[in-house]
Amino acid sequence: MEVGFLGLGIMGKAMSMNLLKNGFKVTVWNRTLSKCDEVVAHGASVGETPAEVVKKCNITIAILSDPAAALSVVFDKDGVLDQICSGKGYIDMSTVDPETSWKISEAIALKGGHFLEAPVSGSKQPAETGQLVILAAGDKALYEEAVPAFDVLGKKSFFLGPVGNGAKMKLVVNMIMGSVMNAFSEGLTLAERSGLNPHSLLDVLDLGGIANPMFRGKGPEMVKDNYSPAFPLKHQQKDMRLALALGDQNAVSMPVAAAANEAFKKARSMGLGDLDFSAVYETVKLLKHSS
Ligand code: NAP
Repeated sequence: MEVGFLGLGIMGKAMSMNLLKNGFKVTVWNRTLSKCDEVVAHGASVGETPAEVVKKCNITIAILSDPAAALSVVFDKDGVLDQICSGKGYIDMSTVDPETSWKISEAIALKGGHFLEAPVSGSKQPAETGQLVILAAGDKALYEEAVPAFDVLGKKSFFLGPVGNGAKMKLVVNMIMGSVMNAFSEGLTLAERSGLNPHSLLDVLDLGGIANPMFRGKGPEMVKDNYSPAFPLKHQQKDMRLALALGDQNAVSMPVAAAANEAFKKARSMGLGDLDFSAVYETVKLLKHSS
């Protein structure tokens, strides 16, 4: 199976490498073209523009930073729309809001193409090991066609119905994750400042009802102030912002998520946006220091 792949950031690079390892022919494009070199060394071809990739491949996957990037690769000159047509499918795996997905879906349908949104749950390591959870919605026939690729990229794929449902599910999941990360950061700081060993807290948490892979994976690194990015904080803040907008639209009061969003914004203002989202821990430590 031949697939196009647009966007070789943390996720896109890992996912395209995984497809190559599993025998897919892959043609890649990235805005910063030099980032294609490593996947090309592993057998990928390069397209000069998104349009060139779509022209060559029947299915093109994208995973880009945010709504602006997702819209840009579709609508800009030499974008996806230039070449999408009947018989071709476009799968956007970026985390965006439903409105962005709807705009892309409508434009692709007008050209006779097929569209699926398929944001993913799981970070850098699950992307590298094919353990993502895929939250697809849109064209069911394209979903069926993409299942061999999804089986390589993920441990489980969901088909959630009409376009927008994948985006909504992903935003709900990340809204919960971002809120929990803030509570976790406050707990670690409170433990340390009140004279407890934070490693003991991690051990206690791991044996109880709120044990989870995020605490287990990120906790020891946070205690060491290691925020090497798996999920960049600027993207987590974008997801909180988009989830809060979804809350506005549905009149859902989310004071916990709103406070978490403020903490991520604070972290961005401190220049931590490119670090892992667990660096929000620094905002709690800072606030406690300054009191
Ligand atoms: P990343 O490392 O920051 O990569 C972002 C990608 O988007 C890069 O390829 C970048 O190209 C491209 N891009 C940004 N602005 C663009 C524009 N205007 N036009 C074209 N391309 C543009 O991000 P990531 O961590 O891979 O995340 C990608 C998406 O997956 C995001 O929506 C994120 O929320 C979601 N996600 C991430 C994770 C995770 O753990 N990392 C997990 C689940 C979902 P350049 O190289 O040229 O900058």
